[in-house]
Amino acid sequence: MFDRKIRMAHRETPSYAFNIMTTNAILNLTEATEMAHSNQDRTENKPSAYWQAVLDRDAGQDGKFVFAVSSTGVYCRPSCPARRPRRENVTFFGQPDQAEKAGYRACLRCRPKAIGGNGTTEMVKAMCRYIEQHLDEPLTLARLGSEFRQSPFHLQRTFKHVLGITPRAYADSCRMSQLKDNLRAGHSVTRSMYDAGFSSSSRLYERTSSQLGMTPDKYRRGAIAASIRYTFADSPLGRMLIAATDKGICAIQFANSDAELEQGLRHEFPFAIRRRDDAAMQHWKKDLLRQMRGQRLNTALPLDIQATAFQRRVWSHLQSIPFGVTRSYAAVAKAIGQPTATRAVARACATNPVAVAIPCHRVIRKGGDMGGYRWGLERKKALLDLEMQNA
Ligand SMILES: [Zn+2]
Repeated sequence: MFDRKIRMAHRETPSYAFNIMTTNAILNLTEATEMAHSNQDRTENKPSAYWQAVLDRDAGQDGKFVFAVSSTGVYCRPSCPARRPRRENVTFFGQPDQAEKAGYRACLRCRPKAIGGNGTTEMVKAMCRYIEQHLDEPLTLARLGSEFRQSPFHLQRTFKHVLGITPRAYADSCRMSQLKDNLRAGHSVTRSMYDAGFSSSSRLYERTSSQLGMTPDKYRRGAIAASIRYTFADSPLGRMLIAATDKGICAIQFANSDAELEQGLRHEFPFAIRRRDDAAMQHWKKDLLRQMRGQRLNTALPLDIQATAFQRRVWSHLQSIPFGVTRSYAAVAKAIGQPTATRAVARACATNPVAVAIPCHRVIRKGGDMGGYRWGLERKKALLDLEMQNA
């Protein structure tokens, strides 16, 4: 049931700089794909309309037909970035299978058969990979545009439509998580910033500091110095890990196995001294399980987490949402005085390091859709059901 893994625990290639944004982005990609599937307007398109869609690289037509090129023996989706063939060499097919029966093979570039993706989301994914691999170079829209054969304007609009952020904001977030990784790995601040594609001017140092919530130097030292105790528990949502410093709880996570939970903790605090200590954590574990079942605690659980100013505002507001009650992302944005920051609120929810203690599961989409959850939607649903039953 709870088969979604903690993504943090599976970041193995450092160059792929995934965390916050990517978790969010993947949710959005899934969503966009579903939308594309439900959009079944198979109207009476004529070959000339098909050809126009091919010339326009119209991703909106992906999944509706493919075009095959006799001179190459390859068939493509309409949005394929490859060079356009001559019209007389082109045949249209409704389905990839039909093109294959006619002897064509799938294009390796646009992957017209790719399951679960339409052209737009596949292309945006490809753009993300490209950005991740070129973080240390100036990534202008013009350059992305020529790489993906689109006008800068169209490219930016498509990217933003699928991911909710601009390519530049995506690149920034990748640099930031790369920087965090480098700092956690113990590299010097200068080298970490350089390797993450930041030039180390003082202005950038300041900006970085505000995004990290502290100076890079302090972030690095903090990552190295902490001493963390942890324990496991059986929760209504599967295996749970609770970890704490001397000052308070620093991580509450869910996963399918203890090994996975330990891996996640190691990834988040690679330089901390991590020690399993069931006895010392017993008290907090009991409190947390009681809290999940809706019992009031005499004192709030102490938390020791790092947050940017914005995350702090969102997270403390979340703690004021009563047990068994939900709010929309938009309502939270409004409540903290930034009505246009819905996406940023969703991001802050997706980066909550302490499940349940900061009840990010109580934030859902307007209209009742669940939205996302760092530990999997099934867990979010189960947690809300549990709250409804006990409220
Ligand atoms: Zn192609």
